[in-house]
Amino acid sequence: MQVKKQLLGLQPYQPGKPIEEVKKQFNLTKVVKLASNENPYGCSPKAKQAIMDELDQLAIYPDGYSASLRTRVAKHVNVNEEELIFGNGSDEVVQIICRALLNPEKNTVMATPTFPQYKHNAVIEGAEVREVPLVNGDHNLDEMIGKIDENTTVVWVCTPNNPTGTYVTSDNLLNFLTKVPKHVLVVVDEAYYEYVLAEDYPDTVSLLNEHSNLMILRTFSKAYGLASLRIGFGIANAELIRKIEPAREPFNTSRVAQAAAIASLDDPDFVADCREKNKKGLKQFYEFCENLNLDYYPSEGNFILIDFNRDSDEVFQALLEKGYIVRSGNALGFPTHLRITVGSEIQNNEIIEILKDFVQ
Ligand SMILES: *Cc1c(COP(=O)(O)O)cnc(C)c1O
Repeated sequence: MQVKKQLLGLQPYQPGKPIEEVKKQFNLTKVVKLASNENPYGCSPKAKQAIMDELDQLAIYPDGYSASLRTRVAKHVNVNEEELIFGNGSDEVVQIICRALLNPEKNTVMATPTFPQYKHNAVIEGAEVREVPLVNGDHNLDEMIGKIDENTTVVWVCTPNNPTGTYVTSDNLLNFLTKVPKHVLVVVDEAYYEYVLAEDYPDTVSLLNEHSNLMILRTFSKAYGLASLRIGFGIANAELIRKIEPAREPFNTSRVAQAAAIASLDDPDFVADCREKNKKGLKQFYEFCENLNLDYYPSEGNFILIDFNRDSDEVFQALLEKGYIVRSGNALGFPTHLRITVGSEIQNNEIIEILKDFVQ
């Protein structure tokens, strides 16, 4: 069996270790996963109710156009319904963009390290990947402009960036958009949008009218706490959406996911509360780092990248044995760092106590 040659060098996605596996391996009764930027507070009770209300409909295919959700999201982000595309997670929107715009004659520009799915999907399409190293955790937007040529079709801006948590300011994004040629799609991945507190974070949606080559990605997986239902969306001008829609599977988002997403938009208090708690949680980690003189990146997401000045797998392993699953920086391009998802206040205190013992 001959698979496409692009697949030969790729690994399937390596997720954070599952809780059940770690319980068994280390004979633990309690295991906490702070590895995948999941919401420690779950999701809105309204979303749970909406899911139950769908249970009698499971035999029926979902609405492939996500019409009800479309109407609700259009109102929420203040765009036209034709300016939205829904995906089985924003991961799938990344895949749709790559299917639609990349091939072996094209190239794509992105930061490194950044969210790995941009590169992964680009490689599958056979496109050339041009990576520009972060500078102090930030996108080097000028260098990225320099990498664009007539064969570039997509550039990726992840803000807040996973895994650093840093963001692109409004001025910098505007400046970047005015410099990128119109034949290049700029994808701004705002997966952590709901957590952001920085005042100079851009109102990216307001830039869509002026920039026909802009696409924004959002998700219900993070602050809305619906990661397991797989639902996210892209926002862009209607013509672009129409052009890429054929690359989307017909029933790519489930009935349950659509209903839960609608209900969670009707509970803004839940998200606001999560944002507030996340802010306090980040503060716990900042204080810990400052007390122990550890470098970290100030984060606008629900995770923090901390430099432990040693092989990150060692620290990862020490935490794992105590029942805390985090992300080792080795797999993320930061071999001495850990990426830790901000948990509940108690979880944060517990992991910080373990880390203090380990570092001191
Ligand atoms: C988590 C994450 C996503 C993927 O979210 P899904 O909607 O669950 O597919 C996309 N981009 C970034 C930067 C993320 O961290």
